[in-house]
Amino acid sequence: MKRIAIIGAGASGLLLAKLLADRTDMQTCLFEQSSKVGFKVRASGGGRANLFNQNVTPECYNHPDFIRSLLNKVGPEKLWRTFEAMGLLLAADEEGRVYPVTQFSQTVVDVLWSPDAPNLHTELEYEVRKISRQGSQWHINDYPVPFDAVVLATGSSASLPQARQERHNAFLTDFNLKTCPLEPSLVGFKLARYPRRLSGCRVKVEAALYHNNELIHKEKGEVTFKDDGISGIVILNLSAYYNRLADKRNCEIELNLLPDCEVDIEQYKRDFGSLKGILHPKLNAWYEQHPFDVKKMKWTILEPYGLEFAQVCHGGIDLSEVDEHFALKRFPGLCAAGEMIDVDGLCGGYNLFFAFASAIVIAQSL
Ligand SMILES: Cc1cc2nc3c(=O)[nH]c(=O)nc-3n(C[C@H](O)[C@H](O)[C@H](O)COP(=O)(O)OP(=O)(O)OC[C@H]3O[C@@H](n4cnc5c(N)ncnc54)[C@H](O)[C@@H]3O)c2cc1C
Repeated sequence: MKRIAIIGAGASGLLLAKLLADRTDMQTCLFEQSSKVGFKVRASGGGRANLFNQNVTPECYNHPDFIRSLLNKVGPEKLWRTFEAMGLLLAADEEGRVYPVTQFSQTVVDVLWSPDAPNLHTELEYEVRKISRQGSQWHINDYPVPFDAVVLATGSSASLPQARQERHNAFLTDFNLKTCPLEPSLVGFKLARYPRRLSGCRVKVEAALYHNNELIHKEKGEVTFKDDGISGIVILNLSAYYNRLADKRNCEIELNLLPDCEVDIEQYKRDFGSLKGILHPKLNAWYEQHPFDVKKMKWTILEPYGLEFAQVCHGGIDLSEVDEHFALKRFPGLCAAGEMIDVDGLCGGYNLFFAFASAIVIAQSL
Protein backbone atom coordinates (compact mmCIF):
# COMPACT_ATOMS: atom_id res chain seq x y z
CA MET A 1 0.00 0.00 0.00
CA LYS A 2 1.46 3.37 -1.07
CA ARG A 3 1.51 6.01 1.70
CA ILE A 4 0.81 9.61 0.64
CA ALA A 5 1.06 12.74 2.79
CA ILE A 6 -0.77 15.92 1.84
CA ILE A 7 0.39 19.04 3.67
CA GLY A 8 -2.42 21.60 3.91
CA ALA A 9 -6.19 21.09 3.90
CA GLY A 10 -7.02 24.09 1.73
CA ALA A 11 -8.51 24.14 -1.77
CA SER A 12 -5.95 21.89 -3.47
CA GLY A 13 -5.26 19.64 -0.46
CA LEU A 14 -8.94 18.96 0.23
CA LEU A 15 -9.78 18.12 -3.37
CA LEU A 16 -6.74 15.88 -3.66
CA ALA A 17 -7.61 14.08 -0.40
CA LYS A 18 -11.15 13.56 -1.66
CA LEU A 19 -9.90 12.15 -4.97
CA LEU A 20 -7.47 9.80 -3.24
CA ALA A 21 -9.85 8.72 -0.47
CA ASP A 22 -11.47 6.12 -2.74
CA ARG A 23 -8.17 4.62 -3.87
CA THR A 24 -7.73 1.22 -2.25
CA ASP A 25 -4.04 1.08 -3.25
CA MET A 26 -3.22 4.14 -1.14
CA GLN A 27 -3.31 5.33 2.45
CA THR A 28 -3.45 9.13 2.61
CA CYS A 29 -2.63 11.34 5.56
CA LEU A 30 -3.73 14.99 5.45
CA PHE A 31 -1.84 17.39 7.74
CA GLU A 32 -3.46 20.73 8.58
CA GLN A 33 -2.00 23.32 10.94
CA SER A 34 -5.35 24.83 11.79
CA SER A 35 -8.20 23.26 13.78
CA LYS A 36 -10.50 23.69 10.78
CA VAL A 37 -10.05 22.81 7.11
CA GLY A 38 -10.61 24.97 4.02
CA PHE A 39 -10.21 28.42 5.56
CA LYS A 40 -9.68 30.35 2.31
CA VAL A 41 -12.29 28.31 0.45
CA ARG A 42 -14.80 29.42 3.06
CA ALA A 43 -13.65 33.04 2.76
CA SER A 44 -13.67 33.00 -1.03
CA GLY A 45 -16.11 34.84 -3.23
CA GLY A 46 -17.44 36.82 -0.28
CA GLY A 47 -18.59 33.57 1.36
CA ARG A 48 -20.12 32.20 -1.84
CA ALA A 49 -16.95 30.51 -3.24
CA ASN A 50 -16.37 31.49 -6.84
CA LEU A 51 -14.86 28.07 -7.62
CA PHE A 52 -13.72 28.63 -11.18
CA ASN A 53 -14.61 30.41 -14.38
CA GLN A 54 -16.02 28.78 -17.48
CA ASN A 55 -14.13 31.29 -19.62
CA VAL A 56 -10.67 30.50 -18.25
CA THR A 57 -7.89 31.36 -20.70
CA PRO A 58 -4.09 31.23 -20.30
CA GLU A 59 -3.95 35.05 -20.44
CA CYS A 60 -5.81 35.27 -17.12
CA TYR A 61 -2.55 34.17 -15.45
CA ASN A 62 0.99 35.49 -15.06
CA HIS A 63 2.42 32.39 -16.84
CA PRO A 64 0.12 31.71 -19.82
CA ASP A 65 2.29 28.93 -21.33
CA PHE A 66 2.16 26.83 -18.17
CA ILE A 67 -1.61 27.27 -17.98
CA ARG A 68 -2.02 26.42 -21.69
CA SER A 69 -0.46 23.03 -21.04
CA LEU A 70 -2.51 22.57 -17.83
CA LEU A 71 -5.76 23.35 -19.70
CA ASN A 72 -4.98 20.48 -22.10
CA LYS A 73 -5.27 18.16 -19.10
CA VAL A 74 -7.94 19.85 -16.96
CA GLY A 75 -10.37 22.39 -18.33
CA PRO A 76 -13.46 23.94 -16.72
CA GLU A 77 -15.75 21.20 -18.08
CA LYS A 78 -13.66 18.50 -16.42
CA LEU A 79 -13.64 20.37 -13.13
CA TRP A 80 -17.42 20.84 -13.36
CA ARG A 81 -17.88 17.08 -13.94
CA THR A 82 -15.47 16.24 -11.12
CA PHE A 83 -17.44 18.30 -8.61
CA GLU A 84 -20.82 17.07 -9.80
CA ALA A 85 -19.63 13.45 -9.53
CA MET A 86 -19.00 14.21 -5.85
CA GLY A 87 -22.50 15.65 -5.45
CA LEU A 88 -21.42 19.28 -5.48
CA LEU A 89 -23.90 20.85 -7.88
CA LEU A 90 -22.87 24.10 -9.54
CA ALA A 91 -24.36 27.16 -11.20
CA ALA A 92 -22.66 29.76 -13.41
CA ASP A 93 -23.53 33.44 -13.69
CA GLU A 94 -23.65 35.42 -16.95
CA GLU A 95 -19.91 36.09 -16.75
CA GLY A 96 -19.03 32.41 -16.44
CA ARG A 97 -18.26 32.55 -12.71
CA VAL A 98 -19.12 29.19 -11.17
CA TYR A 99 -20.52 28.82 -7.63
CA PRO A 100 -22.06 25.97 -5.65
CA VAL A 101 -25.85 26.01 -6.20
CA THR A 102 -26.24 26.82 -2.52
CA GLN A 103 -24.20 30.02 -3.08
CA PHE A 104 -22.54 29.09 0.21
CA SER A 105 -18.84 28.27 0.46
CA GLN A 106 -19.25 25.96 3.46
CA THR A 107 -21.05 23.54 1.10
CA VAL A 108 -17.83 23.10 -0.85
CA VAL A 109 -15.86 22.25 2.29
CA ASP A 110 -18.61 19.89 3.48
CA VAL A 111 -18.53 17.97 0.19
CA LEU A 112 -14.74 17.84 -0.17
CA TRP A 113 -14.01 17.04 3.44
CA SER A 114 -14.55 13.34 4.20
CA PRO A 115 -12.83 12.63 7.54
CA ASP A 116 -14.48 9.21 7.83
CA ALA A 117 -13.16 7.82 4.54
CA PRO A 118 -11.39 4.51 5.32
CA ASN A 119 -8.17 5.31 3.43
CA LEU A 120 -7.84 8.89 4.69
CA HIS A 121 -6.41 9.92 8.02
CA THR A 122 -6.30 13.56 9.10
CA GLU A 123 -4.06 15.34 11.55
CA LEU A 124 -5.58 18.70 12.49
CA GLU A 125 -3.62 21.35 14.41
CA TYR A 126 -0.46 19.75 13.07
CA GLU A 127 2.01 22.29 11.70
CA VAL A 128 4.56 20.73 9.38
CA ARG A 129 7.95 22.31 10.10
CA LYS A 130 10.33 19.82 8.57
CA ILE A 131 10.20 17.43 5.65
CA SER A 132 13.24 15.17 5.20
CA ARG A 133 14.19 12.21 3.04
CA GLN A 134 15.75 8.88 4.04
CA GLY A 135 16.35 6.71 0.99
CA SER A 136 13.13 6.78 -1.03
CA GLN A 137 10.94 7.61 1.99
CA TRP A 138 9.85 11.00 3.28
CA HIS A 139 9.55 11.98 6.95
CA ILE A 140 7.35 14.76 8.33
CA ASN A 141 8.46 16.40 11.60
CA ASP A 142 8.80 13.40 13.96
CA TYR A 143 5.65 11.67 12.64
CA PRO A 144 6.07 7.94 13.34
CA VAL A 145 5.29 6.69 9.82
CA PRO A 146 7.24 7.59 6.67
CA PHE A 147 5.63 8.35 3.28
CA ASP A 148 6.31 7.29 -0.30
CA ALA A 149 5.13 10.64 -1.65
CA VAL A 150 4.41 14.07 -0.19
CA VAL A 151 2.19 16.71 -1.76
CA LEU A 152 2.85 20.26 -0.59
CA ALA A 153 -0.42 22.21 -0.65
CA THR A 154 0.23 24.93 1.91
CA GLY A 155 -0.85 27.91 -0.20
CA SER A 156 0.63 31.37 0.19
CA SER A 157 0.92 33.98 2.93
CA ALA A 158 -1.64 36.26 1.25
CA SER A 159 -4.27 37.50 3.71
CA LEU A 160 -2.35 36.11 6.72
CA PRO A 161 -1.59 38.53 9.57
CA GLN A 162 1.93 40.00 9.29
CA ALA A 163 3.20 38.02 12.29
CA ARG A 164 2.43 34.71 10.53
CA GLN A 165 3.72 35.63 7.09
CA GLU A 166 7.41 35.03 7.82
CA ARG A 167 6.87 31.54 9.26
CA HIS A 168 4.67 30.48 6.37
CA ASN A 169 6.29 27.80 4.19
CA ALA A 170 9.54 28.08 6.21
CA PHE A 171 10.03 24.31 5.77
CA LEU A 172 10.74 24.98 2.08
CA THR A 173 14.11 26.58 2.93
CA ASP A 174 15.72 23.12 3.37
CA PHE A 175 15.01 22.30 -0.27
CA ASN A 176 16.80 25.35 -1.60
CA LEU A 177 14.22 25.69 -4.37
CA LYS A 178 14.40 28.57 -6.81
CA THR A 179 11.60 30.94 -5.83
CA CYS A 180 10.21 34.23 -7.09
CA PRO A 181 9.80 37.00 -4.50
CA LEU A 182 6.34 37.17 -2.92
CA GLU A 183 4.31 40.25 -3.78
CA PRO A 184 0.69 41.00 -2.85
CA SER A 185 -1.70 40.48 -5.76
CA LEU A 186 -5.44 41.08 -6.12
CA VAL A 187 -5.03 43.97 -3.73
CA GLY A 188 -5.79 47.70 -3.64
CA PHE A 189 -3.30 50.57 -4.07
CA LYS A 190 -2.16 53.44 -1.88
CA LEU A 191 -2.27 56.62 -3.96
CA ALA A 192 -0.15 59.79 -3.90
CA ARG A 193 -1.72 63.17 -2.99
CA TYR A 194 -4.93 61.40 -2.13
CA PRO A 195 -7.68 63.20 -0.16
CA ARG A 196 -8.91 61.10 2.76
CA ARG A 197 -12.30 62.78 2.44
CA LEU A 198 -13.13 60.52 -0.53
CA SER A 199 -13.04 57.54 1.84
CA GLY A 200 -16.18 55.42 1.72
CA CYS A 201 -17.20 56.49 -1.77
CA ARG A 202 -18.21 53.56 -4.05
CA VAL A 203 -18.72 54.17 -7.75
CA LYS A 204 -18.89 52.29 -11.03
CA VAL A 205 -15.99 53.37 -13.24
CA GLU A 206 -13.75 52.33 -16.05
CA ALA A 207 -10.31 51.97 -14.43
CA ALA A 208 -7.09 51.89 -16.44
CA LEU A 209 -3.50 51.12 -15.42
CA TYR A 210 -0.83 53.20 -17.15
CA HIS A 211 2.92 52.65 -16.97
CA ASN A 212 5.10 55.49 -18.30
CA ASN A 213 1.92 56.81 -19.95
CA GLU A 214 1.39 53.52 -21.80
CA LEU A 215 -1.94 51.73 -21.29
CA ILE A 216 -1.40 48.33 -19.65
CA HIS A 217 -4.97 47.24 -18.96
CA LYS A 218 -8.44 48.69 -18.43
CA GLU A 219 -11.80 47.34 -17.36
CA LYS A 220 -15.15 48.45 -15.97
CA GLY A 221 -16.46 47.77 -12.48
CA GLU A 222 -16.99 49.16 -9.02
CA VAL A 223 -14.22 50.86 -7.04
CA THR A 224 -14.15 51.75 -3.35
CA PHE A 225 -12.23 54.78 -2.13
CA LYS A 226 -10.40 53.98 1.13
CA ASP A 227 -8.62 56.20 3.69
CA ASP A 228 -5.38 56.31 1.71
CA GLY A 229 -6.11 54.63 -1.61
CA ILE A 230 -8.46 52.63 -3.75
CA SER A 231 -9.79 49.08 -3.96
CA GLY A 232 -12.59 47.04 -5.60
CA ILE A 233 -12.52 44.10 -8.02
CA VAL A 234 -11.35 46.12 -11.05
CA ILE A 235 -8.49 47.56 -9.01
CA LEU A 236 -7.55 44.08 -7.75
CA ASN A 237 -7.30 42.95 -11.35
CA LEU A 238 -5.13 45.98 -12.20
CA SER A 239 -2.81 44.88 -9.37
CA ALA A 240 -2.28 41.52 -11.11
CA TYR A 241 -1.17 43.37 -14.27
CA TYR A 242 0.94 45.76 -12.16
CA ASN A 243 2.81 42.74 -10.73
CA ARG A 244 3.71 41.57 -14.22
CA LEU A 245 5.67 44.81 -14.86
CA ALA A 246 9.43 44.50 -14.41
CA ASP A 247 9.74 48.19 -13.46
CA LYS A 248 6.88 49.40 -11.30
CA ARG A 249 7.83 53.08 -11.20
CA ASN A 250 5.65 55.72 -12.88
CA CYS A 251 2.41 53.79 -12.65
CA GLU A 252 -0.89 55.64 -12.68
CA ILE A 253 -4.53 54.72 -12.36
CA GLU A 254 -6.97 56.61 -14.54
CA LEU A 255 -10.67 56.56 -13.69
CA ASN A 256 -13.47 57.38 -16.05
CA LEU A 257 -16.17 58.27 -13.50
CA LEU A 258 -18.94 58.24 -16.12
CA PRO A 259 -18.15 55.15 -18.19
CA ASP A 260 -21.66 54.57 -19.52
CA CYS A 261 -22.70 58.21 -19.86
CA GLU A 262 -22.19 60.11 -23.11
CA VAL A 263 -22.87 63.48 -21.48
CA ASP A 264 -20.84 66.52 -22.58
CA ILE A 265 -19.46 67.66 -19.20
CA GLU A 266 -18.94 71.33 -20.15
CA GLN A 267 -22.41 71.60 -21.63
CA TYR A 268 -23.92 69.89 -18.54
CA LYS A 269 -22.13 72.40 -16.28
CA ARG A 270 -23.43 75.30 -18.34
CA ASP A 271 -26.97 73.85 -18.20
CA PHE A 272 -27.08 72.91 -14.50
CA GLY A 273 -24.33 74.94 -12.82
CA SER A 274 -22.59 71.96 -11.18
CA LEU A 275 -21.95 68.22 -11.54
CA LYS A 276 -23.97 67.22 -8.46
CA GLY A 277 -26.52 65.38 -10.64
CA ILE A 278 -23.93 63.07 -12.20
CA LEU A 279 -21.17 62.64 -9.60
CA HIS A 280 -21.16 60.90 -6.20
CA PRO A 281 -21.58 63.67 -3.56
CA LYS A 282 -18.06 63.18 -2.16
CA LEU A 283 -16.51 63.31 -5.61
CA ASN A 284 -18.61 66.33 -6.48
CA ALA A 285 -17.47 68.14 -3.31
CA TRP A 286 -13.86 67.39 -4.25
CA TYR A 287 -14.49 68.53 -7.84
CA GLU A 288 -15.93 71.85 -6.61
CA GLN A 289 -12.64 72.62 -4.86
CA HIS A 290 -10.17 70.94 -7.23
CA PRO A 291 -11.76 70.57 -10.69
CA PHE A 292 -10.50 67.51 -12.56
CA ASP A 293 -11.24 65.67 -15.80
CA VAL A 294 -14.21 63.51 -14.83
CA LYS A 295 -13.52 61.04 -17.63
CA LYS A 296 -9.78 60.90 -16.85
CA MET A 297 -9.25 61.26 -13.11
CA LYS A 298 -5.54 60.38 -12.66
CA TRP A 299 -3.83 59.03 -9.56
CA THR A 300 -0.17 58.11 -9.10
CA ILE A 301 0.29 54.71 -7.46
CA LEU A 302 2.47 54.78 -4.34
CA GLU A 303 2.39 51.04 -3.67
CA PRO A 304 -0.02 48.12 -3.32
CA TYR A 305 -1.47 47.47 0.13
CA GLY A 306 0.37 44.75 2.11
CA LEU A 307 0.16 40.96 1.76
CA GLU A 308 -2.28 40.80 4.67
CA PHE A 309 -4.84 42.61 2.49
CA ALA A 310 -4.14 40.59 -0.68
CA GLN A 311 -6.29 37.74 -1.96
CA VAL A 312 -3.30 35.93 -3.50
CA CYS A 313 0.48 36.06 -3.74
CA HIS A 314 2.40 36.81 -6.89
CA GLY A 315 5.60 34.72 -6.70
CA GLY A 316 6.44 31.45 -4.97
CA ILE A 317 8.10 28.25 -6.22
CA ASP A 318 9.65 28.98 -9.60
CA LEU A 319 8.10 27.04 -12.49
CA SER A 320 11.54 25.76 -13.53
CA GLU A 321 11.39 23.52 -10.40
CA VAL A 322 8.03 21.95 -11.35
CA ASP A 323 7.18 19.54 -14.17
CA GLU A 324 3.83 19.40 -15.99
CA HIS A 325 2.52 16.93 -13.38
CA PHE A 326 3.42 19.31 -10.53
CA ALA A 327 6.27 17.05 -9.38
CA LEU A 328 9.33 18.86 -8.03
CA LYS A 329 11.94 17.88 -10.59
CA ARG A 330 14.88 17.63 -8.19
CA PHE A 331 13.00 15.75 -5.43
CA PRO A 332 11.41 12.45 -6.55
CA GLY A 333 8.23 11.76 -4.60
CA LEU A 334 7.55 15.42 -3.82
CA CYS A 335 4.84 17.49 -5.56
CA ALA A 336 3.57 21.05 -5.07
CA ALA A 337 -0.01 22.16 -5.73
CA GLY A 338 -1.88 25.44 -5.84
CA GLU A 339 -0.86 28.88 -4.79
CA MET A 340 2.55 28.03 -3.33
CA ILE A 341 3.72 27.85 -6.97
CA ASP A 342 4.47 31.09 -8.83
CA VAL A 343 1.12 31.15 -10.63
CA ASP A 344 -1.51 33.79 -9.96
CA GLY A 345 -4.65 34.72 -11.84
CA LEU A 346 -7.23 37.46 -12.02
CA CYS A 347 -10.38 37.75 -9.90
CA GLY A 348 -13.28 35.61 -11.07
CA GLY A 349 -12.44 32.05 -9.98
CA TYR A 350 -9.06 31.70 -11.66
CA ASN A 351 -7.01 31.11 -8.51
CA LEU A 352 -9.23 28.39 -7.09
CA PHE A 353 -9.32 26.88 -10.58
CA PHE A 354 -5.54 26.62 -10.56
CA ALA A 355 -5.52 25.05 -7.08
CA PHE A 356 -8.20 22.50 -8.02
CA ALA A 357 -6.74 21.71 -11.45
CA SER A 358 -3.29 21.08 -9.96
CA ALA A 359 -4.88 18.66 -7.44
CA ILE A 360 -6.59 16.72 -10.26
CA VAL A 361 -3.35 16.41 -12.24
CA ILE A 362 -1.47 15.22 -9.14
CA ALA A 363 -4.20 12.69 -8.29
CA GLN A 364 -3.86 11.25 -11.80
CA SER A 365 -0.07 11.06 -11.65
CA LEU A 366 0.30 9.57 -8.15
C1 LIG B 1 -10.54 36.66 1.06
C2 LIG B 1 -10.21 35.78 -0.11
C3 LIG B 1 -11.16 35.56 -1.10
C4 LIG B 1 -10.85 34.77 -2.20
N1 LIG B 1 -11.80 34.53 -3.15
C5 LIG B 1 -11.52 33.75 -4.21
C6 LIG B 1 -12.52 33.43 -5.18
O1 LIG B 1 -13.69 33.76 -5.00
N2 LIG B 1 -12.15 32.68 -6.25
C7 LIG B 1 -10.87 32.24 -6.44
O2 LIG B 1 -10.57 31.59 -7.45
N3 LIG B 1 -9.91 32.49 -5.52
C8 LIG B 1 -10.21 33.21 -4.41
N4 LIG B 1 -9.24 33.45 -3.46
C9 LIG B 1 -7.93 32.80 -3.63
C10 LIG B 1 -8.02 31.31 -3.26
O3 LIG B 1 -8.72 31.17 -2.04
C11 LIG B 1 -6.62 30.70 -3.13
O4 LIG B 1 -5.90 30.95 -4.31
C12 LIG B 1 -6.71 29.20 -2.90
O5 LIG B 1 -7.38 28.91 -1.68
C13 LIG B 1 -5.32 28.57 -2.85
O6 LIG B 1 -5.48 27.21 -2.61
P1 LIG B 1 -4.28 26.37 -2.00
O7 LIG B 1 -4.75 24.97 -1.88
O8 LIG B 1 -3.04 26.60 -2.79
O9 LIG B 1 -4.01 27.01 -0.56
P2 LIG B 1 -5.01 27.30 0.64
O10 LIG B 1 -6.41 27.15 0.24
O11 LIG B 1 -4.55 28.58 1.23
O12 LIG B 1 -4.69 26.11 1.67
C14 LIG B 1 -3.44 25.98 2.31
C15 LIG B 1 -3.68 25.18 3.59
O13 LIG B 1 -2.41 24.75 4.12
C16 LIG B 1 -2.41 24.94 5.52
N5 LIG B 1 -1.00 25.06 5.93
C17 LIG B 1 -0.15 26.06 5.61
N6 LIG B 1 1.08 25.81 6.12
C18 LIG B 1 0.99 24.61 6.76
C19 LIG B 1 1.92 23.81 7.48
N7 LIG B 1 3.20 24.17 7.62
N8 LIG B 1 1.50 22.64 8.03
C20 LIG B 1 0.19 22.23 7.89
N9 LIG B 1 -0.73 22.95 7.21
C21 LIG B 1 -0.34 24.13 6.64
C22 LIG B 1 -3.23 26.21 5.70
O14 LIG B 1 -3.70 26.34 7.04
C23 LIG B 1 -4.34 26.00 4.68
O15 LIG B 1 -5.42 25.28 5.23
C24 LIG B 1 -9.54 34.21 -2.34
C25 LIG B 1 -8.58 34.43 -1.34
C26 LIG B 1 -8.92 35.19 -0.23
C27 LIG B 1 -7.88 35.39 0.86
